[in-house]
Amino acid sequence: MEHPENSEEYKGLTVNKGIEQPATVNPYLQFRKKARRRQFSVGEYVEGIVKGDVTVLSQAVTLVESVKPEHQAVAQEVIEKCLPYSGKSFRIGISGVPGAGKSTSIDVFGIHVLERYGGKLAVLAIDPSSERSKGSILGDKTRMEKLSVHPASFIRPSPTAGSLGGVARKTRETIILCEAAGFDKIFVETVGVGQSETAVHSMVDFFLLIQLAGTGDELQGIKRGIMEMADGIVINKADGSNVEKAKLAAAHFRNALHLFPAPESGWTPKVLTYSGFYGLGIQEIWDMVYEYYHFVQANGYFEHRRNEQAKYWMYETINEQLRDSFYNNRQIAEQLVREERQVLQGASTSFAAARRLLESYFNRQA
Ligand code: GDP
Repeated sequence: MEHPENSEEYKGLTVNKGIEQPATVNPYLQFRKKARRRQFSVGEYVEGIVKGDVTVLSQAVTLVESVKPEHQAVAQEVIEKCLPYSGKSFRIGISGVPGAGKSTSIDVFGIHVLERYGGKLAVLAIDPSSERSKGSILGDKTRMEKLSVHPASFIRPSPTAGSLGGVARKTRETIILCEAAGFDKIFVETVGVGQSETAVHSMVDFFLLIQLAGTGDELQGIKRGIMEMADGIVINKADGSNVEKAKLAAAHFRNALHLFPAPESGWTPKVLTYSGFYGLGIQEIWDMVYEYYHFVQANGYFEHRRNEQAKYWMYETINEQLRDSFYNNRQIAEQLVREERQVLQGASTSFAAARRLLESYFNRQA
C-alpha cells in the first residue's frame, strides 16, 4: 500500500495520489550563478563614497559589519582613506525604551530637519540584542515610512548581535563612511535599556532622551547615569488626554535635573513635551537642538567632546582587541579552565591565577 493513512485504521482520512511537482529551482538560474557582484577595490570604494554613491556606501557598510578578516582588512583601509572627508556633521543620539515612539519620532524629526536645514541625513542604530532574523530592528526602514523614501536619507539597521563594544565600533565606523559620503546629519538610535546609551553617547554631539509620561513615578525607572548624559529630554505622546500628564512629567524631570551637577558643556539640558504621531512641538525640539549646536560651537565644547570621543575610541579599540586576542588564544583558553578550577577549589587566589594567565599570554607574545 502506498499510503498507510489509507489503511482500515484511518477511516476518516484518505490521501490521494498527488501529481508530480516541478523542480523547486528554476533550471535556468544555474547559468546565472557566475554573475556575482564584483568586489570593489579600496580605491573604487573611496571614490564611490566620496561621490555620494549610496549603493557603494551600502556595500562598504556591509564590509564594515562583516566578521571575515579579509573584509575587515579592506574595510579598515576604506575607513582610513575616508577619514579626511569625515567629521563635518552634526551627530545626534536618540534613545528611549521600546514603545517610547522612537521610530515614529525619527520619521518626523528626519523630515523636519531635512526640510528646514537641507543637507543629507543618515539614520544608524545600535541594538546589541538585535539579530537580523528576530523581528524588530532599530533603524529598520519599514518603521520610518516617510524618511525611508526621502531622496536625502540613508537608513541602516543596527549591525547584528555581537558584543556591545563591537556593535558600537561598527556604528562609529559607519558614521565616518556616511560623513565622507556627504551626510551632514547623523541620527544614532538606541533602545534605552542600559549600556547602549553610554556607547551612543560616546559618538554623538547631542544626546536626546525620549520619555513617556507615566504614573508619576517615571523618574524611578530611569537611571541617573542616563539622565546625566541627556542634553535634552523630550516627553512624547503629549496629545489628547495625555497633554497634562506629559507637562507634569516634564516638570518632574526639570526638578530632577536641577539636582545634578552642571554639565561640562555649560549647557543646561532642556525638557520639552511633544507628539511625534500628531507632529506637535517638533519645531521647538529642533530649535533647542540647534541652539545647543551653536552654543557648544561658540564655547569650544563641540570640538572638545569630539576629541575626547576620539581618545575614548582609541582606548576602547585597544581594550577590545587585547581582550579578544587573550580569550581567543587556544592555550590560554585551556589554562583558563584549569586556573578557574583552582580558584573555585580555593587552591589559588583570583589574583595569582590572573597573574599566571597574563604572564603566559605575554610570554607567548614576546
Ligand atoms: P519605538 O519602539 O520607540 O520605536 O516606538 P514606535 O515609534 O514604534 O511607537 C510605539 C507606539 O506608540 C506606536 O503604536 C505608535 O503609533 C505610538 N506613538 C508614537 N508616537 C506617538 C505620539 O506622539 N502619540 C501617541 N498617542 N502615540 C504615539
